[in-house]
Amino acid sequence: MNKLKDKVALVTGGSRGIGKSIAKRLASEGAIVVINYKQNDSAANETKKEIEDAGGQATISKFDVSDFDTVHQEIDKIIEKFGGLHILINNAGITQDTLLMRMKEDDWDSVISINLKGTFNCTRAVTRNMFKQREGRIINLTSVVGEMGNAGQTNYAASKAGVIGFTKACAREMAPRGITVNAVSPGFIKTDITDQLPEDLRQDYISKIPLNRFGTTEDVAGAVAFLTSDDASYITGEVFRVNGGIYT
Ligand code: NAP
Repeated sequence: MNKLKDKVALVTGGSRGIGKSIAKRLASEGAIVVINYKQNDSAANETKKEIEDAGGQATISKFDVSDFDTVHQEIDKIIEKFGGLHILINNAGITQDTLLMRMKEDDWDSVISINLKGTFNCTRAVTRNMFKQREGRIINLTSVVGEMGNAGQTNYAASKAGVIGFTKACAREMAPRGITVNAVSPGFIKTDITDQLPEDLRQDYISKIPLNRFGTTEDVAGAVAFLTSDDASYITGEVFRVNGGIYT
């Protein structure tokens, strides 16, 4: 498939998990993918290798999305190297779960800084170039938790609800320049963490999901790929749920 031929796509947190599947999917559709990550070099190199082995193009850009100045410097370098940036996937995210009464200031600050401020930083850094191009697709990873809340995740829920508000405001601000901004909201996705749950707890979670299974990282990547495609050119400001029907 060559739907994204000549497009340059930055996937933050593209080295592992959902971001890795997104990076692989966009590369398989012809995009030149820039894999961002913070610290796990071997995961990033492995993702790059998998993309190249499959015939795709990938490069690596290591930076912390929560650092305003570094984000702007590194994204400027990407734009200079490739002559533009067409797709931004704000996927990098962390959790730091604990009950509110026990939550430390740093538990709050780190989650907000990476999940919400990181999304702001990267989006701000691509805006000038996308405005000039009069073309761009921005997709922000939120979460079912940002929509319905979850005990023990007040910091994460606030960051992800913030991402939804940010997405809707950006969509209005950038629409006149031909840029769409959407959020993808995954539910329970099969990851190393869900694989380690005790079987009875896993079954209990699954029984609450109408489609009766955890989602896969590929399910999420498929929704992201759709939002980068020509078929989605009239969609902006949306929250696109990929949650098996657990929250509608
Ligand atoms: P993950 O497997 O833990 O991977 C996180 C990725 O983000 C890694 O590539 C990591 O790089 C990178 N990262 C973390 N902090 C960073 C920072 N400060 N700067 C740059 N990169 C950073 O995560 P995931 O489970 O795939 O989740 C991906 C996104 O989907 C997140 O936004 C998450 O909130 C959202 N989501 C996930 C689920 C789920 O069930 N997994 C459900 C709903 C929403 P390093 O390894 O180098 O640190």
